[in-house]
Amino acid sequence: MLFDPRPKSRREEIFDRENELNSLIRGIEGYPMTILIGIRRVGKSSLLRVVLSEFEGLGIYLDARRLYAAGGGTISPVVLVDEIKKLLFGKGRFGFLSGIRLENVNLAGIKLKPKEATIIDVLEVLNGLGEKFGKVLLAFDEAQYLRFYGPRGGKDLLAGVAYAYDSLPNLGFVFTGSEVGLLHDFIGIDDYSSPLFGRVYEEVEVKPFPRELSEAFLRAGFGEVGLKVSDEEIKRAVDELDGIPGWLVEFGFNYWKGGSFERAIERTIERARTMIREELLELEKRSSRYSLILRAVAMGLSRWSNIKDYVEAKGGPITNARLSALLKNLEKMGWIKKESGEYKIIDPLVERILRG
Ligand code: ADP
Ligand code: MG
Repeated sequence: MLFDPRPKSRREEIFDRENELNSLIRGIEGYPMTILIGIRRVGKSSLLRVVLSEFEGLGIYLDARRLYAAGGGTISPVVLVDEIKKLLFGKGRFGFLSGIRLENVNLAGIKLKPKEATIIDVLEVLNGLGEKFGKVLLAFDEAQYLRFYGPRGGKDLLAGVAYAYDSLPNLGFVFTGSEVGLLHDFIGIDDYSSPLFGRVYEEVEVKPFPRELSEAFLRAGFGEVGLKVSDEEIKRAVDELDGIPGWLVEFGFNYWKGGSFERAIERTIERARTMIREELLELEKRSSRYSLILRAVAMGLSRWSNIKDYVEAKGGPITNARLSALLKNLEKMGWIKKESGEYKIIDPLVERILRG
């Protein structure tokens, strides 16, 4: 069902995205490494899950954000290795295995050193599995969190990926990221000091639906659940919520369950408010100034100097260098964008909620 608020795993539950799915599949078939980027709630996890569910080899999905959260802000190498072992031999907590031939894969004979296995050992074992059962795909969702792997900003994991890239032909990787700049920084294709420097990879971007597709999506969703909704309401919903599928699904689901347009919009905004508040709390752990800056930008203070005035009025003095760094980070995390010297909030619903 299109309005199911959970991430989708089957192609029939996905509206449009034919091109993105095909690019993703081409990437996986043609490159050792594929990157899937796009802002929060745009549909990355869903697309990744669909592709994994159709994948002919062995797919391993791992949610790096959950690994990070469970580790209290770090991802320990031992925990990651252990998680992959658990997924192979039973049940893991932060991911799942997929692949239509899984039932034919006898994992019981696979040997991994019990204690001192490193990520390289695991990758070698997976590559061996690929020899027997077709390609193995290791997919890290919200992979920018892998920068918290181990003591060196994730470099040890990247070194493993680089080794696999060069020497383990049956192994492929997918990295998704909502915090696009952080993901690029982490992978470091353009960074001399990164183990992955200079490797080629496929990159697929998932964008919000344009106006017409957002409307068509709502119409299709309401059609599916047999609710008659006027064109005017469909248009108004897209005016309010824009083209991010996550919000449209939330709205459609609420309207279907509750029967009132106004209520559904309200509840969607309420839900968005809760989610965004949680995300802001996460941000504030990094710097208390982030929410001040976001509020300034949401209120329409788009110029650097106006943002600075606001932040200083509310939070005390800040150096230019510090403010620049924080703005740059917010760009990298996908909260704001900069166009001809003006800052803007990317998600219109986030903007509205920040305005209060
Ligand atoms: P992301 O991983 O980019 O944050 P998700 O895949 O979790 O996004 O999607 C957010 C929400 O939007 C989920 O409820 C998902 O079911 C829904 N969704 C996203 N894209 C689509 C789509 N193309 N068709 C139907 N539902 C979608
Ligand atoms: Mg996701």
